[in-house]
Amino acid sequence: MTTYIVLLGPPGAGKGTQAEVISDSLKLAHISSGDIFRENLKNETELGKLAQGYMNRGELVPDDVTIAMIRERLTRPDCANGAVLDGFPRTPAQATALEGMLKELDGTVRSVPYINVPSEVLVARLSGRWTCQQGHVYHVVFNPPQVTGKCDVDGLELYQREDDQPATVERRIRVYLEQTSPLIEYYRERGLLREVDGTQAIDQVTADLLAAIQKG
Ligand code: AMP
Repeated sequence: MTTYIVLLGPPGAGKGTQAEVISDSLKLAHISSGDIFRENLKNETELGKLAQGYMNRGELVPDDVTIAMIRERLTRPDCANGAVLDGFPRTPAQATALEGMLKELDGTVRSVPYINVPSEVLVARLSGRWTCQQGHVYHVVFNPPQVTGKCDVDGLELYQREDDQPATVERRIRVYLEQTSPLIEYYRERGLLREVDGTQAIDQVTADLLAAIQKG
């Protein structure tokens, strides 16, 4: 049985960090739409050039482009047992498209853990966030690396994402509230939503997420 988990939550809720640990622990692929876009940006692909403006402004990349990208990603061999989806879907149209894609793959969304963090906490978190090219994420106060400016996992230099600048952070939160938060109701109505308190310590959030997923 393939297992698809959709990790919901605002920007800065810790989706990337948690998706990494959860996918490892459940032996599932980790699909981060933001990481795929950033990889394409770095490699200056057509997709990267198309996405760049939207990303830098803190807006969503159009649905058709994003859906096609995830459709391709889901058919790769590492997704044979399923995947943890981090950052997708982000609009109702993407959620509907995902249902269709998974049907074709004989799968379905099994659980939708929702990492709940209030907006005022998000601004503080995002503006202190540093990351390495591989997508490992740190925070100057809440989750500092062992060596300043270096990733604990791979030793790579840490940098601040362009879209973690204060004005863009506010726009990303607004975009989330307008376009993505309707998915909370969408998945609640389907009986799949599992709410977790994202203001707790990182390890506690992980434990709660895994417990929520195990419960089904
Ligand atoms: P993230 O790392 O998930 O915060 O994503 C960074 C940026 O990539 C977002 O602000 C969007 O511009 C773009 N992006 C990521 N996922 C999606 C998505 N599912 N739909 C549209 N745009 C996305």
